[in-house]
Amino acid sequence: MAKTKSEAVQEFEYKAEMKQLLHLIVHSLYTHRDIFLRELISNASDALNKVRFRQLTDKNVLDPEADYEIRIEVDEKEKTFSIEDTGIGMTRDDLINEIGTVASSGTLEFVKKMQEEGKPLDGNLIGQFGVGFYSVFMVTDKVTIETRHADPDSRGYRWVSDGQGTFTIEEIEKSNRGTKISFTFKDDAAEFASADRIKEIIKKYSNFVDFPIYVNGQKVNTIEALWHKPKDQISEEELTEFYKFLTNDFNPPLAHLHLSIEGAVNFKALIFIPETAPPLFIRETFKKSLHLYSNKVFITDESEELLPEYLRFVKGVVDTEDLPLNVSREVTQSSPVTAKIRNVLTGKILGFLEELAQNEPAKYEKFYKNFGPLFKTGVNTDFTNRDKIINLLRFETTKTGKGELISLKDYVQRMKDDQKGIYYLSGETREEVENNPNLEYFKKNDIEVLLLTEPVDVFVVPGIGEYEKKPLISIEKADLDLKKDERDDEKLGTALAEGLMKIIKETLGDKVEDVIESKRLVDSPVTLVVGKEGLDRQMEKMMKMMNRDYTGSKKILEVNLSHPLIKNLARLNLGDSSHPLLRKCILQLYEGALLIEGNLTNPNEFVKRMTEIMEEATKG
Ligand code: ADP
Repeated sequence: MAKTKSEAVQEFEYKAEMKQLLHLIVHSLYTHRDIFLRELISNASDALNKVRFRQLTDKNVLDPEADYEIRIEVDEKEKTFSIEDTGIGMTRDDLINEIGTVASSGTLEFVKKMQEEGKPLDGNLIGQFGVGFYSVFMVTDKVTIETRHADPDSRGYRWVSDGQGTFTIEEIEKSNRGTKISFTFKDDAAEFASADRIKEIIKKYSNFVDFPIYVNGQKVNTIEALWHKPKDQISEEELTEFYKFLTNDFNPPLAHLHLSIEGAVNFKALIFIPETAPPLFIRETFKKSLHLYSNKVFITDESEELLPEYLRFVKGVVDTEDLPLNVSREVTQSSPVTAKIRNVLTGKILGFLEELAQNEPAKYEKFYKNFGPLFKTGVNTDFTNRDKIINLLRFETTKTGKGELISLKDYVQRMKDDQKGIYYLSGETREEVENNPNLEYFKKNDIEVLLLTEPVDVFVVPGIGEYEKKPLISIEKADLDLKKDERDDEKLGTALAEGLMKIIKETLGDKVEDVIESKRLVDSPVTLVVGKEGLDRQMEKMMKMMNRDYTGSKKILEVNLSHPLIKNLARLNLGDSSHPLLRKCILQLYEGALLIEGNLTNPNEFVKRMTEIMEEATKG
């Protein structure tokens, strides 16, 4: 809360979370300290974009004739630095609310976790979390902001902070629009107090900023809209540099796509697929996926309508002359032009991924491992392009090594002639699914099964329904139409089997939906499967996570009539159906199957019964 220091200067305290984050920035970030400059320039550029956009429709701003520019002054002797822009400026409220708070609530947790895990805290991370301004505290102990908002009746303010616990705000005389940020470099950051060094950093990170940047009066950046250049005149280097500028990524992109579309809709675009997913990627929104320009004037980087959600991993620029300039960002969102661009872009990106998959499979696999979990959801949301997306899906199977992926097309090509469908099994990890007893039949008969271990798979794969007329079938379902087991001769006789099934049903009562003979088990005596209407185990787990009251459906117990233990039990039953060991063993088998599933709720009884059975077995 505000405390009055003197009449004119008010002191504010940072929120606890902000204080902790600042502490981490000041005391833990030692690599890439030069990004402080990138962040300051990027904020200045954002502010200039905002005022330029506003001036398209509203002439009533402060200094309407001012050039859009960024001026940096650096003094080698005094070790001082300042950056001034003619952008939108900040109101008093902006200084309190925009500068003094952490944008994303996950930031602090994430940074702390990295630190706890002993991972190096990289200055670059800060820029990705929307606390870019505070990176200046890596190089200075005290910062002053002087600013005045573009509203003609705004006032000027000075904000000062040492980045510890508090900041102050006072009203000042400031005649021109925009923001000036100034400070003195700390001793251990004195290397940055050099015009040459500053110019070098600008070339490295900020060369594509839309506005001229001057250092001690000299212009340093080349302003050009790269996407307007003909394809063959853009070098690989320029592309990489531009990508890094757009995304703050330190690595080059995995792949890029340059589009120049003319026809029902006209636009140019430069689209990139990053090599790695940024931290917090899944939780991130559309922010900074695509930057939308209208005839080289930046409009927004938060458009949610330019791309479907499942493609928001791409980065890049879209520039169109078809959007009316005198509209608000909101109208831009709902414009039919935006919808047309979206359709064309989606088709082009999917086509591009198809090419990548075909011509550069290693790259495609890299893409898929990073962004697959998001990309896959397109199967459920984009009905127009569903088939294309399904063709782009990749899976591990019982016949691939860990991490090796195949397509459904590959699967169908090597399917057995009499195979009824495409089999899949879901679980948490590859190890877990591989040990699932339901796989035994498939292993023995050399039938390939897709192994699904991604949480989204349970929503995506059942939704596919069928591929090339082959149904997708969960091998956890009881109605699997499998061939008769060739070991029939080893199986229990009918009378013995019927007797045993009856006693199992009696013993388990309404714990299970049914007890049936299994065709899929080889080495295990029993397994639990779900009925026609039931959900897979993995699906059930998700349901339970989303709804605490969800209890799941009853399972069907499948019994392997060729298993020695089952045969022993059948004989025991014939001799003395009230033998105490019989019921104990049946309960133990059932609960053992629950245990494998991770659904055993009462391990005490299970262990107690096991002890009794062992005692009985060792009686001598
Ligand atoms: P981010 O830029 O990611 O939002 P920052 O911490 O760098 O995070 O900046 C916080 C906010 O402060 C900006 O979103 C903007 O509203 C405001 N701001 C920072 N620098 C300027 C500037 N030069 N001109 C106007 N507003 C600014």
